[in-house]
Amino acid sequence: MDSFKELALAPELMQALEKINFSKPTKTQAATLPLGLEGKDLAVCAATGSGKTAAFGIPIVDGLIKKPGTAALILAPTRELAQQITVFMMSLIQFCPDLKIASVVGGADIRRQMNGLAKNPQIIVATPGRLIDHIKRKTVNLKNTKYLVLDEGDRMLDMGFTPQLDQILKYLPKKRQSSLYTATMSMKVRHLAGQYLSKPEAITVGERSMPVKSIKQSVIQVDGKQKYEKILDVLNERSGSVIIFVKTKRRTDFLFKTLKSFGYEVAAVHGDKTQGQRNKAIKQFREGTARILCATDVAARGLDVPQVEHVINFDLPMMQEDYVHRIGRTARNGAAGEAVSFVSVEDHRAWLSIAKKYQIPGVELKNVSVRLGGFKKKSSLNKKGSKKKKRSFKTSHSKSETQFKKKKRNAMKNAPKNKKRRRSRAR
Ligand code: AMP
Repeated sequence: MDSFKELALAPELMQALEKINFSKPTKTQAATLPLGLEGKDLAVCAATGSGKTAAFGIPIVDGLIKKPGTAALILAPTRELAQQITVFMMSLIQFCPDLKIASVVGGADIRRQMNGLAKNPQIIVATPGRLIDHIKRKTVNLKNTKYLVLDEGDRMLDMGFTPQLDQILKYLPKKRQSSLYTATMSMKVRHLAGQYLSKPEAITVGERSMPVKSIKQSVIQVDGKQKYEKILDVLNERSGSVIIFVKTKRRTDFLFKTLKSFGYEVAAVHGDKTQGQRNKAIKQFREGTARILCATDVAARGLDVPQVEHVINFDLPMMQEDYVHRIGRTARNGAAGEAVSFVSVEDHRAWLSIAKKYQIPGVELKNVSVRLGGFKKKSSLNKKGSKKKKRSFKTSHSKSETQFKKKKRNAMKNAPKNKKRRRSRAR
């Protein structure tokens, strides 16, 4: 499919697509739109950044325009993703004065949401927990829901939303068109699809959950606390926006403070931040007032900041699949991007399985003899004898090199230990 014009979409919707400069459908959109517009239920496995929001958004808006009195519910696992979807859906309905949208996410003012829901919006974009709050308070009406989307289905399950999803299902009309979007299609996701969808068409776009090919992936072997020193070099050698993924909330805060003390424009997001703080950080990053965003995996999916040039895995992800989601923040929609992963001695095994699973070329570890599925032999990485590269400190701030080195030493000395933590605490 070469153009949206082939789809006989409502004129107001075509006008909106032109306004946002969408002329040619992405692969995901080309594969899903004709079926979605026909009214089919869809289970779609597609990489993040492949244009899935418009893939489900276009048939919804087309349907709402052509069948007045119907409504849509879009469920997303994180507030950031829900807000991003809301903004995109608003752009699609900008020429439809009769269509209203409500964003129903945790951490935001519930009274204001109630006022918005009282106006009977045709589109509700929600996170499951907050939607349940409104269901219990009887402040949301789902009886006209003709279209349902579960976005990032795998993520919803990872985040433990199964009970909430089961509950929401009870309040939805049986006769509806549902679609599920997911980056991975595990047995659990299939089960979810079985519960929510009716005779769905299964669509897999591209290689299943493989990193986008235009991302240049590399690895830096580094020992524990050296990471705080090395990150400065990595940042100084690169220009453009950077997301740095960190394993825990505490380490994220520490890295944020360290980078700030070195004069970098940096923001941070993690699960302990208030919604206001999270929004502010993402706004700063999106607008470029913060060049660097330090984040836990809460920001790995859904965050669509078109100008991200580099992703740095300061810590490797705890779930292998998150590697793809993290690095998928760069190279969005065909752009180029770079992903750098720090791999410490303790990470050898985890890295090797990520590299094997995602067939990452040219990122072998040096001096490492860990066999996957076999015995783990002691690694000789970075022990005495490894050649140390001469460093140059090119920072934009005015601190002297001696002060800079002293700070670097302190940063390393005070760095929190990279202990293994439970996944739930890490977000
Ligand atoms: P998504 O996967 O929905 O987060 O989309 C990833 C990025 O691709 C977003 O910045 C979209 O605005 C952009 N995008 C999606 N579809 C198209 C299209 N057909 N033409 C141009 N840009 C698109």
